[in-house]
Formats: sequence, C-alpha cells, structure tokens
Amino acid sequence: MCIFCSIVKGEIPSYKIYEDDKVLAFLDIKPVNPGHCLVIPKKHLENIEEIDEEYLSHLVKIVKKIGNKIKNNLNVLGYNVQVNNDPIAGQEIAHLHFHIIPRQKNDNLKLFPQKNYNSGEAEEIVKKLIKE
Ligand code: 5GP
Ligand code: ZN
Repeated sequence: MCIFCSIVKGEIPSYKIYEDDKVLAFLDIKPVNPGHCLVIPKKHLENIEEIDEEYLSHLVKIVKKIGNKIKNNLNVLGYNVQVNNDPIAGQEIAHLHFHIIPRQKNDNLKLFPQKNYNSGEAEEIVKKLIKE
C-alpha cells in the first residue's frame, strides 16, 4: 500500500487539516514553507489522468478552501499550487496530490527557471496541442 493510502487509513499519523468522504488534506512532513499542505483523493489514483472530472473538481474546490484558510489564518499573501504529475515531473509518491505552498516575502523560492522558444518552435507546438 502507498504511504498516502496508509495516511488515509490512519496507519501513519499526519496533521490533518480537512477531511470528507472523498478528500483528505494534511501538512507536508517536509514543508517548503510553514503551512505547506497536501490535498489528496482518498481513493488511490496515481495522477490527473486517472481521476474523473467530477472527483477532480471536488478536489480543486477543497484546494481553494484550504488556500483561503492559508491566506486568512496564517496571514500569508499568496501561495503556489503544484501537482508533480508523474515521476518525470518529480512525483515521488504515486498517489495524486496537490501541493499548496504558502509564500512569504523574500523566501527566495524560484520554482520555474524559464527558457526561450527557438524560431518556429511555438507554432509547431500549438499545431500539436490544438489537435483533438
Ligand atoms: P511529490 O514529490 O511526490 O510531489 O511530493 C511528495 C511529498 O510528500 C513531499 O513534499 C514529501 O515531503 C511528502 N511526504 C512524504 N512522505 C510523507 C509522510 O509520511 N507524511 C507527510 N505528511 N508527508 C510526506
Ligand atoms: Zn495511495
């Protein structure tokens, strides 16, 4: 069984923030910043492809609810929402989870180093992405 399924079952302790019959949210054990939360489906689904749209919408509603609490109750000005979808994207635990990472002034996090497109590259990518 995966670590997050064990957390859902209560076999591994966690600092729970929110729970309903479908979703659980708890503190990340190694926070990027204090208050870093993980929001997960209680069902073992590995990635965004595996979760159906209705379930995903509910999960995202909870992400919003907890984001509001982070802003209002932890007195932070904003947060990052991140899903590492699949191992190539840095997913270490194969159970879908949304990170909510509170941001602080001067916390020096730079999440996405950016590049430039080569000539014609963006047009090629758009052609592929607008295809069904
Ligand atoms: P990933 O790299 O898969 O997107 O993120 C996995 C996250 O789970 C990491 O940020 C890591 O700190 C967190 N994590 C790993 N094991 C545990 C655990 O046993 N309990 C909690 N609360 N968080 C965990
Ligand atoms: Zn699992």
